[in-house]
Amino acid sequence: MNINEIKGIGPKKSALLNKELGIFTTEDMLGNYPVSYEDRSVIIPIGEIAADGVYFITASVVKIIKNYVYGNKGKMIKILVHDDTGGLEIIFFNASYYDKSFKVGEQYGFYGKVTFGKSGPQMVHPDFEKNSHEIKKEILPVYRTVKGITQKDLRKIAREAVSESININETLPVRILERNNICGRDFALKNIHFPADKKSFAAAKYRIIYEELFLLQTGLFIKGSSRCRTERGIAFSHDNYVGEFINSLNFTLTDAQQRVIREIVLDMESAVPMQRLVQGDVGSGKTVVAAAALYKAAKNGYQGVLMAPTELLADQHYDTFKNFFKNTDVKIGFLVSGISAKEKRETLEALKAGNIDILIGTHAVIQENVIFNKLGIVITDEQHRFGVEQRMKLAAKGNNPDILVMTATPIPRSLAVIIFGDLDISIIDELPPGRKQIITKVVSKKSRSAVYKKIEKLLNEGQQVYAVAPLIADSEAVEAVSAESLYEELCEKYPKYNPALLHGGMNQKEKDYIMQEFSEGKRGILAATVVIEVGINVPNATVMIVENAERFGLAQLHQLRGRVGRGEKQSYCYLITDPKSELGMERAKTIEETADGFVIAEKDLQMRGPGDFFGLRQHGLPQLVMADLVRHIGILNSLRSDVKEMLQEDPSLSLPYNRCVAEGVEKMFGSFENLGI
Ligand code: ADP
Ligand code: MG
Repeated sequence: MNINEIKGIGPKKSALLNKELGIFTTEDMLGNYPVSYEDRSVIIPIGEIAADGVYFITASVVKIIKNYVYGNKGKMIKILVHDDTGGLEIIFFNASYYDKSFKVGEQYGFYGKVTFGKSGPQMVHPDFEKNSHEIKKEILPVYRTVKGITQKDLRKIAREAVSESININETLPVRILERNNICGRDFALKNIHFPADKKSFAAAKYRIIYEELFLLQTGLFIKGSSRCRTERGIAFSHDNYVGEFINSLNFTLTDAQQRVIREIVLDMESAVPMQRLVQGDVGSGKTVVAAAALYKAAKNGYQGVLMAPTELLADQHYDTFKNFFKNTDVKIGFLVSGISAKEKRETLEALKAGNIDILIGTHAVIQENVIFNKLGIVITDEQHRFGVEQRMKLAAKGNNPDILVMTATPIPRSLAVIIFGDLDISIIDELPPGRKQIITKVVSKKSRSAVYKKIEKLLNEGQQVYAVAPLIADSEAVEAVSAESLYEELCEKYPKYNPALLHGGMNQKEKDYIMQEFSEGKRGILAATVVIEVGINVPNATVMIVENAERFGLAQLHQLRGRVGRGEKQSYCYLITDPKSELGMERAKTIEETADGFVIAEKDLQMRGPGDFFGLRQHGLPQLVMADLVRHIGILNSLRSDVKEMLQEDPSLSLPYNRCVAEGVEKMFGSFENLGI
């Protein structure tokens, strides 16, 4: 039914509802869930109200005092009401017309916030309704409103929608509902809007969350399985190039690195295109894993590309790779926006002609004019900096190349399965041997100078220090340390150690130069912003000081700490923070107590919620309305086997009793095409 057919909803309100809330029909209203509820299921006797709070009372009007003047501000209406247990004042400011709504001796229901004034309990501007017989006890929905539309309007439409509910179709297979003791859709929708009681409400809410997660999981499973069926990729030869590469290294791979490399090699040798995520904490050694895969591709006559999120990181990878492959015939190219036009032209030509085996670069490698001769493998480092689209754009430069994405931001496995439903996951859960645990300390601002004093000894021994600040330059608006002022301070204090400054506002040449000098040990201290967060590797740097640590997220702090502890020497991380910032303290303490990136990620998620968690939206997950991937992860885990079973029996969801699921999935994901079918 169109909402403009409802009494009291005229053309003006209809237009507002259409435009502002997207509600055209009563059916739309059913999907417009309440944001909260007013519990009017229990009537509270006035005599029992002892503290401020929101209450529902029924009381008779004893006296109406009109135009009661308060202070010099204006007039108000005061209505004295009472029930069997006590009395209360109802107050309406500047609203003389309210007197016509009440009659002495009649009974009304009042819902609102009670506060205690000089003359006892008061309720200001309550919701009220007249009911001479019996006040209806119920739990009422509260919807998001917009200007011109009242709560009452929305409730009216919702009541109409719910009363029509004969037409509500079931959207989940009945046998799955029965098996899991889940209520029907009509019951759920009725009770999510007008809960009969708390139990029915809980059942309704569970059902709606279950349905959302069921459809999400079904869609993601279909998405995950479709690629295997429909695409044919490159089957690299069964050879021992990777073994050859590993033997050429001057260190031994960890068991975890070996396991992950084996998983990658199997993928590469299969004709199904690889789509694999490698998760490994900072310093776990992902670069060498990428290099092994790229070497195998190159030796098979294919090209490979490694895309990094910053020029700094691309540059470092380039150096690392030149070193890895110095005794081989593998040709490496470098492409970032900072190189000269001539270099760029030469690189592009060589790439097109097949004279470059491995291309390392930044976003520059996705540009249209970058043409490969025979692209076989695409690797993105620090995946969370890139979206799916960028990954796909790069992959489109080849013919179903293998895809590997690497991330140092550990994602709890539970969530990774969802976010990366279309990827297989490998985890490097072991650090190279000889690494010492980084000693991490939360330091209050007061003790800041003590920290800087302490590092002098380490600087004297030739070790290096990072000092990170949240801002580039001092700001009037934000009270926090800036990299520039920190740099000046350090120059004054430690001229001997030749401090350097690095931030995102500098041009590439400057940044490269500074980074080069720091990694060669010419600079003892690097004052910086988070530009050094990702990937930078200077094993001789053993101290990380983070100023205003409360301004950084958990994952970010963990990443920053990961810049040290990369060599044999004991490393330290000092988190300087304002103890007044509670959340900041909590975050800092978490980092202090935990070294495991996965545990930190889990905590990060709890603190921030999945909405903020990187990449959720970026990874093209549909918007969930009521379900919350963190809070309801248990429900998701419990329904996965049902979804699997359903898809095994009926992969295309074409059996009559599964059609409703297909429709639901289609609605959620836009269309089946979006699932890659
Ligand atoms: P991340 O996983 O953070 O990208 P990197 O690949 O930059 O880590 O590796 C960090 C450092 O550890 C590098 O200096 C690298 O050469 C070194 N490394 C990697 N694997 C090993 C290993 N198995 N044994 C010793 N050192 C290793
Ligand atoms: Mg790395």
